Amino acid sequence: MTVLAHLPDLPRLPAYVYDLAGLREHAAGVRAALSGAAELFYAAKANPDAPILRALEPFVDGFEVASGGELEHVRAAVPGAPLAFGGPGKTDEELALAGGVQRLHVESPHELRRLIALGERPVDVLLRANLDLPVRGAALAMSGPFGMDEDGLAECAALLPHAPWLRLRGVHAHLASGLDAPAMLDLAARIAGWALPWLAGLGVDRPELNLGGGMAVDYRNPAHRFDWAAYGSGLAAAGHRARLRIEPGRAITAYHGWYVTEVLDVKRTRGEAYAVLRGGTHHLRTPVTKGHDQPFTVLGTGTGPALGPGPVTLVGQLCTPKDVFATRVEAPGLRVGDRVAFGMAGAYAWNISHHGFLMHPRPDFHYVSG
Ligand SMILES: *Cc1c(COP(=O)(O)O)cnc(C)c1O
Repeated sequence: MTVLAHLPDLPRLPAYVYDLAGLREHAAGVRAALSGAAELFYAAKANPDAPILRALEPFVDGFEVASGGELEHVRAAVPGAPLAFGGPGKTDEELALAGGVQRLHVESPHELRRLIALGERPVDVLLRANLDLPVRGAALAMSGPFGMDEDGLAECAALLPHAPWLRLRGVHAHLASGLDAPAMLDLAARIAGWALPWLAGLGVDRPELNLGGGMAVDYRNPAHRFDWAAYGSGLAAAGHRARLRIEPGRAITAYHGWYVTEVLDVKRTRGEAYAVLRGGTHHLRTPVTKGHDQPFTVLGTGTGPALGPGPVTLVGQLCTPKDVFATRVEAPGLRVGDRVAFGMAGAYAWNISHHGFLMHPRPDFHYVSG
């Protein structure tokens, strides 16, 4: 990893380091693998950092935003990029922003009624479907409050003829996350199997399917990656008679961010070895929310006291037993002053963390572009 070469030089820790060169290469690979079978939108909520959005822009067809805040932020960072606007609980103020987006994903009949009440303004809409398709092996099933079942969709279909300025383009279905390529292809086939006849029945010409995101990222085995080539060729081979779009977040940016910090203290308490690191899960909440050990690399730059052999738990500076990066992991010879670089910190990392808790200084941010 070229980015590792930069880590010893960081002037201040903790720091986030984003590998923009690697990110561009990865995004170009994903796009090539899709080979025109589906449009690629990046789900900004995975990491909306402006330099990341700008690095991705040449390789994506647009960005998916899930709030008015994200919409305005992405518009400012990558002016003119096509936007798909989804997310539950949109306010009237947020719906009023929909005029300028490429697609609006409608979440409920009440939301559609409020959009209609805002008056005659052309908007291209997808109806978000919450289909009863059991998803095997999903890390997170996106059922619950998201989108509409068949009754809700039928209610929307009945409302739309009263608002001819709203153009129904198709169906959006983000049903699960953490799926591998075969499971994603299977899900796509089942979504198409339901949605395309339904859209044809409504007379929708050139129907669109947004198949969502959720491509698997394996924190326990970073080398095990989502098979974009199999997914792209599988979508092409399936020959769905629709304009397809996907909107992954995690599997685009997860691999190209690092949270770099250093060991402040080492100790044994009641037989357990701990290394206390500068910063904590208020900067990198991912391992707590996902329940994994965050993968890491140790740069042996320290000269302080060391731990003896045996597993060690890596914790942060917060006064809570939940402030854990990795539990009982091997880090031979770890000592005070060593730098520790947590990988896979490019998605759902800094931006989902509770930054204000305990008022420690914020990390620095660095961008490696070559
Ligand atoms: C979160 C989300 C995504 C992105 O999911 P990833 O797991 O990051 O790929 C895409 N679409 C919708 C509607 C989402 O809520």
